[in-house]
Amino acid sequence: MVLADLGRKLNAALSSLSRAPVVDEKVIDATLKEVCAALLESDVNVKLVASLRAKVKTKVKASLDVSEKVKDANRKNIVQKSLFDELVHLVDPGVEPYKPVKGKANVIMAVGLQGNGKTTTCTKLAVYYQKRGFKSCIVCADTFRAGAFDQTRQSATKAKVAYFGSYTETDPVAIAAQGVAKFKKERFDVIIVDTSGRHKQESELFQEMVQIGEAVKPNMTVLILDASIGQAAEAQSRAFKDSADFGAIIVTKMDGHAKGGGAISAVAATKTPIIFLGTGEHLTDLDRFSPQPFISKLLG
Ligand code: GDP
Repeated sequence: MVLADLGRKLNAALSSLSRAPVVDEKVIDATLKEVCAALLESDVNVKLVASLRAKVKTKVKASLDVSEKVKDANRKNIVQKSLFDELVHLVDPGVEPYKPVKGKANVIMAVGLQGNGKTTTCTKLAVYYQKRGFKSCIVCADTFRAGAFDQTRQSATKAKVAYFGSYTETDPVAIAAQGVAKFKKERFDVIIVDTSGRHKQESELFQEMVQIGEAVKPNMTVLILDASIGQAAEAQSRAFKDSADFGAIIVTKMDGHAKGGGAISAVAATKTPIIFLGTGEHLTDLDRFSPQPFISKLLG
């Protein structure tokens, strides 16, 4: 089920609630059942869904206990508001992400599995910050994938963003360190380090992330997560958290047929905020993410 379908189903559940003449425990349970089924179908982690259900029930229980005093309309509002709050809570770990500061070198390291959209997102990020007056650049420390540097070179050139990489150096840690040192010297504000991916989680990759992290000391590490990841999101994000301790998540390919719920589960599993959504293949297809507007839009 794609994200738009999730929105429609959540909406349908809330509409049935609005139409119900009496809002008793049965109606509330039915609404919650519909909402939870929709979330599960979208790949949101089963434990998170159970917890959302329990929290909403606790919040509305008080209104049920005083049934004769609380009017149905009020009770509807209570259910709607607590559902909205808990949906926001799903995508909001309550942690402020790092904000780049002008006039100093802000090193951003991007990590993630191959194919998740890391290289594309690095250029999108550079374009985003460049547009906002940050002198931005990209360091390609991906020596694992043949053609990675060419891809960076092409997209950075198209985006008119400075870049650094090597056709001959095979040590990603050396390239990352050299690139960051060079751009710091040249007083760049935002230095984005693109790292290698692998097709699956491998200890070699995680060791490399630790070493690059130690070499470039990023101000912020960002996990790039494909929206279609599904239930694997929790394990994948935890594994990266242990080696790369990322402080932000960017979910890519939100324009496709992805369910998106897996990526939402990664937020809770790692208590890390989503900062952007990738919404297409173009360099400007990057939207800032905020929990409340996202859920409001989802609910239509
Ligand atoms: P990497 O291996 O993680 O560096 O992934 P790439 O940046 O090479 O991206 C893999 C594929 O995903 C490419 O074809 C990109 O154009 C595509 N891609 C990346 N981000 C998005 C996005 O937000 N939406 C869509 N539709 N495609 C994307």
